[in-house]
Amino acid sequence: MPAIPFPKKRVSRSVALEQLKILERTYPKATTALEHANPYELLIAVILSAQCTDARVNMITPQLFARYPTAKELASAKQRDVERIIKSCGFFRAKAKNVIRAAHDITERFGGTVPGDRESLESLAGVGRKTASVVMANAFDEPALAVDTHVFRVAHRLGLTLGKTPLDVERDLVQLVPKAKWGLATHWLILHGRAICKAPRPLCDRCPLLQLCPTGKVVMKKPAQPKRLRR
Ligand code: SF4
Repeated sequence: MPAIPFPKKRVSRSVALEQLKILERTYPKATTALEHANPYELLIAVILSAQCTDARVNMITPQLFARYPTAKELASAKQRDVERIIKSCGFFRAKAKNVIRAAHDITERFGGTVPGDRESLESLAGVGRKTASVVMANAFDEPALAVDTHVFRVAHRLGLTLGKTPLDVERDLVQLVPKAKWGLATHWLILHGRAICKAPRPLCDRCPLLQLCPTGKVVMKKPAQPKRLRR
């Protein structure tokens, strides 16, 4: 199925603010789906969630954290043992290496406690801007907006941004959302992307944003693709 092109023009600021209000009303209890009891567990869960569903990560982490309850213990884990536990979440070799290295950095440079500021978080092995933002917003209540694949897609389809990179999209979104709601806005867009504004085909006929969405108008005009006949 061909991808739906993103709009070439941004919506006006007033339309964007109205869209965000609808998202806020639609997802009033938005929060991360990654189960965690502390910043260490959240950080490791976020690293594991790359290219993997949160539900799958939640199946893996109880065993991982029972065996390695702190960064210090994970730092001295054998890579093979971690790989065995996390195998079902994809890219398990690279992820095992990254979580052990991040735990090592936390232990050696931050006394075993996950730091809460962007610079320190991004200095940890395997931690980029998006992972740091998720940890800042959800474990430390710091203002941070994370742009993952859902946020990128939904923000474009709504005409909130024309940004080419996640950082461009983040810069546009933080101009529209009050600082105190940056973390929440991340969840609104992720939840909407998972439930309704799906890739590759959004469910525009069920979307509360349809009247304000430039992509929705295009999608609803197109006739549905005929189903292929089975031979
Ligand atoms: S109307 Fe369609 S494209 Fe627009 S946000 Fe809703 S589901 Fe996505």
